[in-house]
Amino acid sequence: MKPETRRPPQRGAEPQAPEGAPRRSSHITVLEDVNAISEHGDDLQDTLQRIVEVIARRTGTDVCSIYLLEPRIQRLTLRATTGLERRAVDKVAMSVGEGLTGMVMEKSEPVAVVDAISHPRYKYFPETGEERYHSFVGVPIADRSTPLGVLVVQTLRRRKFSGHEIRLLRAIALQVAGIIVQARLVEDLKSKEQERREYRRRMIAAVKRLQAYEKTIEAPAAPRRRIRQGRLNGLSAAPGFGRGRAHLLQPPVSFAIVEDRQTDDVTAERLRFSRAVAESVQELESLKARLARRLPEFDQGIIEAHRLMLEDRGLTTKVEAHIRGGLAAEAALRRVVDEYLAAFAKMKDEYLAERAADVKDVGLRVLRNLLGIPEPERALEKESILVAEEITLSDLSLIDHEHLRGIVLFKGGPTSHASILAKSFEIPTVVGAQAGSGDEVHEGDELIVDGNSGVVYVNPPIDVVREYDRLEREYRAFNRELDSLKHLPGETTDGRRVNLYANIGLIADLHFVHRHGADGIGLYRTEFPFLTYREFPDEEEQLQLYTRVVRAMDGKPVTIRTLDVGADKYPSYLHLAPEANPFLGWRSIRISLEMPELFKVQVRAILRVATLGRVRILLPMISGLEEIRRAKDLIEEAKDELRERGHDFDPQVPVGMMVEVPSAVSLAPHLIREVDFFSIGTNDLIQYLLAVDRNNHKVAPLYEPLHPAVLAAIHDTVQAAKGAGKWVGMCGEMASDPICTIVLLGLGLDDLSMGPFFIPVVKRIIRSVSYSQVRALTRDVLGLATVKEVKGYLFDGMKSLGILELMEMYH
Ligand code: PEP
Ligand code: MG
Repeated sequence: MKPETRRPPQRGAEPQAPEGAPRRSSHITVLEDVNAISEHGDDLQDTLQRIVEVIARRTGTDVCSIYLLEPRIQRLTLRATTGLERRAVDKVAMSVGEGLTGMVMEKSEPVAVVDAISHPRYKYFPETGEERYHSFVGVPIADRSTPLGVLVVQTLRRRKFSGHEIRLLRAIALQVAGIIVQARLVEDLKSKEQERREYRRRMIAAVKRLQAYEKTIEAPAAPRRRIRQGRLNGLSAAPGFGRGRAHLLQPPVSFAIVEDRQTDDVTAERLRFSRAVAESVQELESLKARLARRLPEFDQGIIEAHRLMLEDRGLTTKVEAHIRGGLAAEAALRRVVDEYLAAFAKMKDEYLAERAADVKDVGLRVLRNLLGIPEPERALEKESILVAEEITLSDLSLIDHEHLRGIVLFKGGPTSHASILAKSFEIPTVVGAQAGSGDEVHEGDELIVDGNSGVVYVNPPIDVVREYDRLEREYRAFNRELDSLKHLPGETTDGRRVNLYANIGLIADLHFVHRHGADGIGLYRTEFPFLTYREFPDEEEQLQLYTRVVRAMDGKPVTIRTLDVGADKYPSYLHLAPEANPFLGWRSIRISLEMPELFKVQVRAILRVATLGRVRILLPMISGLEEIRRAKDLIEEAKDELRERGHDFDPQVPVGMMVEVPSAVSLAPHLIREVDFFSIGTNDLIQYLLAVDRNNHKVAPLYEPLHPAVLAAIHDTVQAAKGAGKWVGMCGEMASDPICTIVLLGLGLDDLSMGPFFIPVVKRIIRSVSYSQVRALTRDVLGLATVKEVKGYLFDGMKSLGILELMEMYH
């Protein structure tokens, strides 16, 4: 290798290296090119810039950057890049240990990550525009044992870097180290002569080190024990981190083994079936008692629902009909369960579709009893992670939780009852886990379950294990801290109070409302319980239901939203015809106003329950004054009806409306005169404002709460409410996103209502900032025109307010 015989490479003159691992010849070429640049460069910045360009071209990567360490303050600063935004140079800085680049510095070892964005240590610097890049390799730049910085390459597509490529990068970093040392020396040394001598000495030393290094990489690597590592991506169902050995849960029975056996003794089969049902009911009773001992505050309604399913004439009558038709009991049961599952599968509502798991669970219990198989003992080895296709409520309650560290399910969703139970037991859970080829889990594999981000690591390398141990320690400390906030208000350092309310759907949610210290209920989605009834619940049934909620809240506000069905929520008894554009169709208040009798049944129940606590009525999907006036007329009619019947009720119940249709934003100054409060429903507002279907994954990246148009709509709505001296809250998912908290606070919302889990972290953010600072920041944000600008500005703001780390812990 004779660098002096080569001409310095001209920018853009090098041929593009092919994708994938560079060959040995290109290995030498890139080293020589780097060397040649350093020979001819006289300014460090310029030299580094030319080096990153050559490295990116020669290694076929999309980004190459060099971060240099400022030893005095122990910070890494981006000094040269190709691929990232050039304006980030000299601006983006991080401390040692921060982000993946900081991790390279901290460990003094290469870090290679195929999907950087989902790595727990990934840190996003919006100024760099690096969100497009997936794979990341960073290698330390060091002069012997003195750390100098980090060399990073990134690629747009996900790819794994070979050992050979990483060794090449290390070799380049070695060269770069020589160049940096030299350049720094140049700055220090006065004498030109001395400078030249030192330069040559350093270069020769660098080349020698490089040659020595190349020899080591030519030697075949020592054989290593092959450990199958992998990673599964899923959805987070219960937060937290768990580490342990995989225990694959096999169901004791399966419908797959049931054949379509015929019987000629119908009486005997019916008897067998009714005995199996009775035994199953018995088991559920003792399960209830066991659960009550273990988790006294857990809503027994779920077990009760299983029992009711067994006692429901619908299910048993159907099975008996098949038995009478000549099928053996097991086969008849399978038929009916299959029918139910097929019906559930057709339901558009995700929540209801997940109820299919309950039917299957109940069916399997009866099948097991039909086959005379006792309930299995579910003993676990120490530190176990349960892995299963899906898990039944029964399985989960039989398991000895003492040793259970996490749950991984290949099926199921976050709102399945098993997930709800896992959350109550606080077991980190990932559901819908998708394994890539070769990533499957075997009994005894070591697993890490990251219930916060929905990722499972199979036989993770030691670095990941250490990283998660650290994260878990921090997460525990973080949660202890959040728990200590439970009884404190959501109040800024300068005394601005924001009510932090919970969104609920089922009675089971109340457990979490209390656990996370909600100030009240900001959104009770009554359509969820309605969807679980077989017929439209009458006034007394509704009164009973709402009474449970209002009593449980013990004087705290409860905002009951009237029925919001249609679009993706269809109760069978309403017989809604399919529509081409259901979100733009017959849904929500439109149905209520056309079915005033049903609407008034609900309103009467709400007015009656209001005597027991602080109840509010919330009307969904209002798009204009005619609708709100009509709805209010019906509420008055409902009051008259209650008076006529002599029922006790609260005539002063505040009536508010959701602002979730763009026309309601435009008309906000008029609409607010008609109501007592606004509640902004960003889930729908964003989809209507940006024309992005909230349930369509293909357009999910366009669904952006921090879009300037969304912020402007929220601002206008808040201003309209404030102008009329009324209060305004938010109950869409945006209210639960910690990234949005300061801007929502600054926009002046009086309350934020969210899934109860998010209350502590949002409260922590609110309690860490001053309202006046946040208001000033929000004023600036409102002047920005793109999502990127908004995010960048907010990111900087959060950094200077010192709340960025909080968010990282949670995400
Ligand atoms: C909303 O649209 O923001 C909202 C809270 O209502 P839902 O999600 O129930 O449509
Ligand atoms: Mg809505």
